Amino acid sequence: MSNIETVVIVGAGQAGASAILELRANKYEGKIILIGDEVHLPYERPPLSKDVILKPSETKIEILSEEKLAELGVQTIRGFAVKKIDADAHQVTLSDGSTIAYDKLLLATGGAARRLPNFDALGKHVYTLRNLEDSQALVPVLQAGRRIILIGGGVIGLELASSARFKECDVTVIEMGPMVMGRSSPRVLSEFLLAQQQLAGVDVRLSTSIADCKLDGEEIVVTLGDGEELRADAVVYGIGIVPNAQLAIDAGLDVDFAIKVNENCQTSHPDIYAAGDVATQLRECGNHRRVETWENANLQAGVFARHVMNVEHPAVNPAWFWTDQLNINYQFVGDMAASEWIVRGEINPELRQESSFVLFGVTDGIIVGGITVNAAKEMRHLKKLISKNAAFEADKYLDLSQDLRKLVK
Ligand code: NAP
Repeated sequence: MSNIETVVIVGAGQAGASAILELRANKYEGKIILIGDEVHLPYERPPLSKDVILKPSETKIEILSEEKLAELGVQTIRGFAVKKIDADAHQVTLSDGSTIAYDKLLLATGGAARRLPNFDALGKHVYTLRNLEDSQALVPVLQAGRRIILIGGGVIGLELASSARFKECDVTVIEMGPMVMGRSSPRVLSEFLLAQQQLAGVDVRLSTSIADCKLDGEEIVVTLGDGEELRADAVVYGIGIVPNAQLAIDAGLDVDFAIKVNENCQTSHPDIYAAGDVATQLRECGNHRRVETWENANLQAGVFARHVMNVEHPAVNPAWFWTDQLNINYQFVGDMAASEWIVRGEINPELRQESSFVLFGVTDGIIVGGITVNAAKEMRHLKKLISKNAAFEADKYLDLSQDLRKLVK
């Protein structure tokens, strides 16, 4: 039995929702209070750039329904922001001035879209994508024939480019760096992603800066670094996120851009934890690292719940995330900075959605990373190989007549 009476969770996103499930799964029987500044119940974000835009009426994104929350004995406070944490008094103050006491507090406040103030200042035809309202606002914007400029060739930019092409928009992606998804993907895969966008008719501008933007009637005029002018009906930018860490800063917690947490997701105050996009966690190598994925939000929520309940953590699996673009499913696991990438199967961009291959990321002869392209069923085998520090054996793993499942013992 735990002697903790009240856990307060601030932030009703993936990490917050997952923390509730993990607390109950780890036999926590006390009070849980979930506070979210959005009016919605916790919902999944991955569909926001895809199905919520493409199939708005048939897409369900709720993680925890009203009934499920009641069944789990969770008190929810929606549409109210926490304004202050008093760490010594163990209480939070809400935007209406009321206070709530806690024994343990989880900050799962996520992040906000990094802003481009000169675009925001235009006042219309400029969008970002972070929450449900942002996604719903794009539905009427992404109509056939509309000229859409997407700024940022990261996951948001490429997933939106895919959705916009499905809606038959005329799409341009402007990426500052030399590669698309350069932060999260090795070059070989980035080149494949780029080829897919180009084959689908997207005009991708790499290593391109923006010098100016202005409105000309109902058009947006974007001037590139080399002086070229592009005209569009709308601009959507996805240039990364900024962790929502202000509460933690004001409370005097240790924050370095994101909230610093230890291996147990504890902040510099032992009764305050952080999980998900807002947290940067101490890793085995001795450095802090922030991971902005759906899986990481769930994993850190589990770490928090088990630590509160004094339950040992299971072994950590290599990090995993996915993206869906132009009817191709991509999954990534482990270290994307592996020194070489070796393909099992054929990389032929012309095959488009018929493509299917696996990439092994190898460093010093050991499999440290893996990518599946329309080959999701191979992902669990890659995870196993990486977890086991398996040596890469070309004759074994590149032979397509050999079933990867049988090779992984
Ligand atoms: P992101 O993946 O970091 O990509 C942002 C891209 O924009 C980067 O390539 C960045 O280049 C580029 N960029 C930055 N400033 C720019 C500028 N002024 N002009 C042009 N390009 C610029 O971030 P995101 O796509 O905005 O996604 C936000 C968050 O949502 C991330 O946490 C992401 O992981 C998450 N998300 C995940 C998924 C998924 O897992 N499937 C899908 C959607 C969103 P540099 O790298 O050179 O700075």
